[in-house]
Amino acid sequence: MAFTLKERQLLGIHGLIPPRFKTQEEQLELCRLNIERYTEDLNKYIYLMGLQDRNERLFYRFLSENVEQLMPLVYTPTVGLACQKYGLIYRRPRGLFITIHDHGHVYDVLRNWPESDVRAIVVTDGERILGLGDLGAYGMGIPVGKLALYTALAGIKPHQCLPITLDVGTNTQALLDDPLYIGLRHKRITGAEYEDFIDEFMRAVVKRYGQNTLIQFEDFGNHNAFRLLDKYREKYCTFNDDIQGTASVAVAGLLASLRITNTRLSDNIILFQGAGEASLGIAQLCVMAMQAEGTSTEDARDKIWMVDSKGLIVKDRPEGGVTGHKVLYAKNHVPIKNLEEIVREIKPSVIIGAAAVGGVFTPEILRDMASFNEHPIVFALSNPTVKAECTAESAYTNTDGKCVFASGSPFPPFVYKGKTFYPGQGNNSYIFPGVALGVICTGIHHISDDIFLVAAKTLAALVSQDDLDSGSLYPPLTTIQKCSLKIAARIADYAYEHGMASTDPEPEDKEGFIQAQLYDYHYKSALPSSYIWPKL
Ligand code: NAP
Ligand code: MN
Repeated sequence: MAFTLKERQLLGIHGLIPPRFKTQEEQLELCRLNIERYTEDLNKYIYLMGLQDRNERLFYRFLSENVEQLMPLVYTPTVGLACQKYGLIYRRPRGLFITIHDHGHVYDVLRNWPESDVRAIVVTDGERILGLGDLGAYGMGIPVGKLALYTALAGIKPHQCLPITLDVGTNTQALLDDPLYIGLRHKRITGAEYEDFIDEFMRAVVKRYGQNTLIQFEDFGNHNAFRLLDKYREKYCTFNDDIQGTASVAVAGLLASLRITNTRLSDNIILFQGAGEASLGIAQLCVMAMQAEGTSTEDARDKIWMVDSKGLIVKDRPEGGVTGHKVLYAKNHVPIKNLEEIVREIKPSVIIGAAAVGGVFTPEILRDMASFNEHPIVFALSNPTVKAECTAESAYTNTDGKCVFASGSPFPPFVYKGKTFYPGQGNNSYIFPGVALGVICTGIHHISDDIFLVAAKTLAALVSQDDLDSGSLYPPLTTIQKCSLKIAARIADYAYEHGMASTDPEPEDKEGFIQAQLYDYHYKSALPSSYIWPKL
């Protein structure tokens, strides 16, 4: 209904729409009224996906201008529910499904994607969707949601974004038995066949869209995530958001918290509950940040303690050895299993939860944290909300309002003893859209960890004193597009300084250069421009 009379007549659609002309603003109001009618979040999600199919620009304007209200729908927590019910709510195709049976023909499948200028891919194999486990092909909701944020939060054009699910099967019996399941109905294919399939996928992307295509790995199982990152990071333009994006947003929060605790990062003792993609990624970036403060690698690692499913990570642990990147943080200490005991023993100043075990930060742990810290830092990062280590309410009440709290999924503001706390959301969406924008615009070939430290520092610097005073370690979500742009611009500075950029010539005004490329969600005329010639 926003088509003008002239457009309607010239396009031959006159009469097919009601005679009223609407502005995009009036249409946004209609969206608001529609979404408010739904009481269930899943229905709101279905409405939003329908809008994305029907009217892309309106969808992105709606999302961009209402991030705080709508991001929890297209992203955690509601996207988790949507993935669990993906077979039920599936309406129209979105994103590309490539299965293990397409092995040998991956490029042919990629060629079916109708867009020729893809710059960014988010890919999952569905093995570890949020903290919900193996959802197989139902995981498609994640790349779709993440890329919606690429556009809404960083202005990357929608046609340049491609969501992909690699379906190699699922080990979740409930899905194999689910009559609505949309994926391959067998157990996960692993080993050499899996490996070759992913290799073929990476090569096929480069063949179809070029070496500079950004490939974001999302929600892969732990064992594959680290291995594939190590394998591909020097060969392709790739990063793993669960490891590196999480690291960046968490370190940004930690850097901001130092202004409250008046410490250096190196002065803190950090305890991780969970030693997976999130925790090990954060730990690695913390070490880099401490090194930047002049601390040695060894001393930095000494400050970091980890707990996995078998308890405190210590050397020579009788119950389950310590492998992979965990080894770096294994301490000479007696083994302890119980988290409350561990906290009492280690006395951390920072406690970070990323093990998808809901509620493990018990009132007792929180009280203890407050007893040995003036301002304990508590990050409950596990998603979705039910998996959070504690609620914002519990964090504030059990530390008598002293703690600095951030979570992965959003919590509403909480009033404690007359003061309103606005819990910060340590949400990767502060980071990955801006990083992607910076990488795409400057043509970075390989994304090093430095890039994520630059992003973290940039974000931390955008946290105002007001934000800190209200209990948040992050800028308001309403400013997230500005954060993305600043992050992209700082990454561009860094990339040109360090010879990592391939976009030539180097733009003088980096921020202006990036800004000029952003997606515009306002309607454009549907008619070609026309002009007249002099008489021949
Ligand atoms: P992951 O790689 O599978 O790691 C999970 C870790 O938790 C493993 O180290 C596992 O131990 C440990 N664990 C499991 N049960 C435990 C228990 N009872 N006690 C202690 N540790 C236990 O998963 P991830 O990628 O790190 O993600 C974990 C959670 O963080 C998810 O809920 C995810 O949604 C969330 N996350 C949040 C953000 C964010 O908010 N910004 C970003 C990324 C991830 P083992 O090593 O012994 O198996
Ligand atoms: Mn993820």
